[in-house]
Amino acid sequence: MFENLSERLSGVFDRLTKQGALSEEDVKTALREVRVALLEADVSLPVARDFVKAVQGKATGQSVTRSVTPGQQVVKIVHDELIHVLSGSEDPGKLKIDNPPAPILMVGLQGSGKTTTTAKLAKRLKDRDGKRVLMASLDVNRPAAMEQLQILGLQIGVDTLPIVKGEDPVTIAKRAKTQAALGGYDVYMLDTAGRLHIDQELIAQAAAVRDAVAPRETLLVVDGLTGQDAVNVATEFDDKIGVSGVVLTRMDGDGRGGAALSMRAVTGKPIRFVGLGEKMDAIETFEPERIAGRILGMGDIVSLVEKAQATLEVEQAERMMKRFSKGQFNMNDLRTQLEQMMKMGGMQGMMSMLPGAAKMQKQMEGSGVDDKMLVRQIALIQSMTKKERANPQILQASRKKRIAKGAGLEVAELNKLLKMHRQMSDVMKKMGKGGMLKQAMKGMF
Ligand code: GDP
Repeated sequence: MFENLSERLSGVFDRLTKQGALSEEDVKTALREVRVALLEADVSLPVARDFVKAVQGKATGQSVTRSVTPGQQVVKIVHDELIHVLSGSEDPGKLKIDNPPAPILMVGLQGSGKTTTTAKLAKRLKDRDGKRVLMASLDVNRPAAMEQLQILGLQIGVDTLPIVKGEDPVTIAKRAKTQAALGGYDVYMLDTAGRLHIDQELIAQAAAVRDAVAPRETLLVVDGLTGQDAVNVATEFDDKIGVSGVVLTRMDGDGRGGAALSMRAVTGKPIRFVGLGEKMDAIETFEPERIAGRILGMGDIVSLVEKAQATLEVEQAERMMKRFSKGQFNMNDLRTQLEQMMKMGGMQGMMSMLPGAAKMQKQMEGSGVDDKMLVRQIALIQSMTKKERANPQILQASRKKRIAKGAGLEVAELNKLLKMHRQMSDVMKKMGKGGMLKQAMKGMF
């Protein structure tokens, strides 16, 4: 995202930071380049001009103080100004969905990613907020679009309104409203028709639907790669229909990203989400700090760290999965599992996520397994040597005594742990064969 702009600006600031003090001429030179970079990144001319002017005013005012690192000072000012322009007043990810069923209207041009985004947001509402969502396609001219939404719905486990041939968009919208109320849905999302270009019919249709359901949110989906065009589209939609926010898609590509800046500056509408790929999870709340950081080429530590962490966990889970399905389940693995259980709301929470583990759960209930026991079990494993953890089979009477003593517990307790370990490794092995382990682990990590 924003590579071009970011590279250009870091070039400018590299030169600046190498100089000792910051003269007015330096500020001007730097900002000229900032302006060119913004324009090249598809930021509209008036926006780039205003932006530079604002920064210049602030930078010149501060140049009197003669900061030790003037380059950094300008970077900071540009950074702050970017955030200022990009920010909306409210939390962009918080959708207004109180008073169920809340209608959300999705509008945008054909190919902008509207249908995909509808499904992504539905999934997000379901997974993160535990909301029941109903989706309906109003694209009566393109049966394929209606089917596409239906297929996505099946894929993400979100209901779609049954397709009835021959209905007009307003009728479908009203049917969705009724169905959402009767079916106890929290939210219903209306995916309106798209066209390749804005035309009167498209606008009239969206306006009629808007009047029929009074949407709580009207989200405009725009292709982030289209730059200046995206801004024109946004202005038009906002004037005619009124939008409550913008979703910028395809921000995963090597787009120039200037759209984000001018969109915000020109329409005054907050950017709420960004689409980062074709997958159903590839959507994030818009974060001005992150985008500003990327624009300036200062790196995006937060997202890098998050990504690294997620990859690490997935890799770890996959490695474990492979070993478990081969019946390799040692005490270190058990300990990891026990710690996971603690993290995930204890025994009950954990067991409910393991398909086919109901039988084991019953046995555990009978044997008095509870969350305090988790702590004792972890203590027992801690008391084992490395060799013992890797090969619990070698645990004979004397070793058992030592381990139990080390944890301040009875040998009987250790025997229970060993029994549980055997049972778990049996279950893992069986589940591994049926491919069920993979499913279970997916839910855990
Ligand atoms: P619609 O005509 O506006 O409903 O557009 P679609 O939802 O059918 O999307 C058009 C294409 O863009 C599909 O192939 C999507 O997978 C793809 N797409 C949508 N959002 C994104 C995104 O954020 N990034 C990328 N790379 N592709 C996207």
